[in-house]
Amino acid sequence: MYRIHTYTAAEAGLLVNSYLLETADGVVLIDANLLLSDVRALAARIAALHKPLLGVFVTHAHPDHFNGLPLLAGDDVPVYAAHDVADTIARIADAKRAQWQPVYGDEWPDRHRVPDQRLSTGDTVELGGLRFRLHAVGAAESHADSYLTLDDRAFIGDLAFHGTHPYTADGHTDRWLTALDALTEELDGATLYPGHGAPGDAGMLAEQRRYLMMYRATIGRLAAGAPALTDAQREELTAVMTRFLPGAPLTWMIGLGADAVAAEIAA
Ligand SMILES: [Zn+2]
Repeated sequence: MYRIHTYTAAEAGLLVNSYLLETADGVVLIDANLLLSDVRALAARIAALHKPLLGVFVTHAHPDHFNGLPLLAGDDVPVYAAHDVADTIARIADAKRAQWQPVYGDEWPDRHRVPDQRLSTGDTVELGGLRFRLHAVGAAESHADSYLTLDDRAFIGDLAFHGTHPYTADGHTDRWLTALDALTEELDGATLYPGHGAPGDAGMLAEQRRYLMMYRATIGRLAAGAPALTDAQREELTAVMTRFLPGAPLTWMIGLGADAVAAEIAA
């Protein structure tokens, strides 16, 4: 038996979800959040459960999922991730800090931790009597994605955003679409716990697929083969996608990834 507690950041923290799985013996954390104020609140939430943190999983190689690791896991709690997720975090964490610390200031941690327990597809990990299985996906939403299954639940990281605009700036939307096709079969009937947005069924994979198709089609039409959009084209793209997903938060993500996807299509 276990309970799932969800810690969700405010929009400033990208509405990112961290999932706490509480068992009789302890707590397992899935994804470590982004900004230090959220990471501290998440640490307090864990402390308030009055049980040891047994391990942490990182679903993919983006700071809103790995920034909190040093504060939450220290040096001693095992941190699990797919091989390529760990390798990618080791490769990009300093560059991400250089890019985003000027924006987020003190909210961006000075240190990072690379997952030390490296897993391959099909590997299982037992923590607190729970048996997790890792499924490596490769490049999709990030340079390295994965998801975890536990019984009929799947913790899918950012393989689908549920009700928010997605991050597309790593420029792998073609492979992301391919991954979504595979996931739709693999996760039929499961309850999905996304990195951003509420839990739901595999319908969120189809929604993500439709969004990416529309995003790519619009960029392809506007860029007409160019590897980047003009400011006016980026504004038009933002208007189109805002109409496609009315009222959804994180609209600035639409423009953020436009050039990466234009370059992806041009190539
Ligand atoms: Zn995320």
